[in-house]
Amino acid sequence: MKQRKKRMSVQKRVLMASSSVLMLVLTFFIIKYATGLSKPGNHAVAGSVDAVSDALYTPTATITPEETVQPTATTTPTPVPRAEFETEYAHMGQRNETHAYMDGVAYALRYPLYADEAAAAAVGQAAEAIRAEKMEALAKREGTKKQLLIDYEDGETVGLISVLFYIETEVDGVTETETVTWLYNKKKGEAEKVEALFADTAYVYLAECVNATEEKMEVSMEEETKASLEETLEKEQFTGTREEFPAYVLTAEGVKFYYTKKGECRSILVPYLEVHTYMAVTENGTVVAERIRKLDADKPMIALTFDDGPHYQQTPRLLEILEKNNARATFFVLGDRVLWGESNENALRLIYETGNEVASHTYSHSDLATLSEEKVQAEITKTREAIYSVIGEYPTLVRPPYGSYNDTVKRYAYAPLITWNLDSKDWYSRDTQKVVEQVLKEAGDGKIVLMHDIHYFTVDAAEILIPELIARGYQIVTVQEMFYYKGIALENGTVYHSSYN
Ligand code: ZN
Repeated sequence: MKQRKKRMSVQKRVLMASSSVLMLVLTFFIIKYATGLSKPGNHAVAGSVDAVSDALYTPTATITPEETVQPTATTTPTPVPRAEFETEYAHMGQRNETHAYMDGVAYALRYPLYADEAAAAAVGQAAEAIRAEKMEALAKREGTKKQLLIDYEDGETVGLISVLFYIETEVDGVTETETVTWLYNKKKGEAEKVEALFADTAYVYLAECVNATEEKMEVSMEEETKASLEETLEKEQFTGTREEFPAYVLTAEGVKFYYTKKGECRSILVPYLEVHTYMAVTENGTVVAERIRKLDADKPMIALTFDDGPHYQQTPRLLEILEKNNARATFFVLGDRVLWGESNENALRLIYETGNEVASHTYSHSDLATLSEEKVQAEITKTREAIYSVIGEYPTLVRPPYGSYNDTVKRYAYAPLITWNLDSKDWYSRDTQKVVEQVLKEAGDGKIVLMHDIHYFTVDAAEILIPELIARGYQIVTVQEMFYYKGIALENGTVYHSSYN
């Protein structure tokens, strides 16, 4: 496994520290609530944790133990009227809450209510399905005292709603807990497959983050001796499997992944910037695979890439040529050029809308290898924001200007670094015919071609080149398409010159 330098954000560390407290709060609530030993109410522990925890499971004062533990008759669960909770929990958003005794099981069910009616209906169905399944399983089990608690934590991005259901079943004092994530795509108006959201490589990255964070926490615990500390770390390293991170919540700030360490449920918040390369659905609800066309994996592919744009005249002209030939390309655009006025913005929008790929060529075209950490980060971040402000999506690839990079660039690009292995030399020859000849001479399956859509002679060359390459058997594809069909999972901080080296 590659060794990467890790830097935990303050946010991550704060969350790490507080999440175990949160779970204690939750457990406290569950015990009180489910066993009916006392009437739960707002208590000191909940009041002392930070704002993050407010979104969690604060006990409600309206539930009395009698309702859950000593029922007199079987009751049909009915949603508690919203108003009951609105005043007290206005800051938590709205939720549906049911507690009842049915088929020998005392249960409590909570799930969020959303303004989006379709989302509200879908999450209700998902919650009820979990309840029904667990109730059925509980009914079959031996025991005199059976309880079920389904609580949740939810989070939302621009296009996705996620709910982490916390499920606790108890039979005669023996409890089992489970977490399940439910995901809803607002753009599509339907639930998403949860397992599919993150690629396997995301979990490898996550394990590195968690190992580094946990190590810091261990180091700060002074009561441990150095020897035993090393032993502990060795034993408890995360390897990067899905099973290690069974649940997550998508928050506005990033993905909060849950894991178990030393029998404790902990979480880590990872900004989208760091994991979005591995996401099958963007924060805006765009299904990445839907932007990959159906192509013939066995036929040769070539990725034409165009840098330094968008250009208000040449880019639209090139897009027309691509469309006419059923070809697509990747555009590495400059952040400052994107924001150069309405016609440039329109050109960028057109790249995205015609199905071509929008990628980052940094903000000001500086040689990143000569810049400080802060400046490298600014080049990456400002370009992301510029692109997002126009097309509503972040770029997924970065091409460092001049193909120049170092370890700092690899670390802070938070994207795969795409260079090229076929230079059209358009910047040097400035001649249509020479550009055509150069590309045709070196064309090959899996190659990435460097061109510039700011020059009319390059676009003229593309007009000749594209049909010619197709006639020679090539499929003209985006970088994402090519790596997808070549079966290569792109990773953050890795440099790719082509699909084979
Ligand atoms: Zn350039």
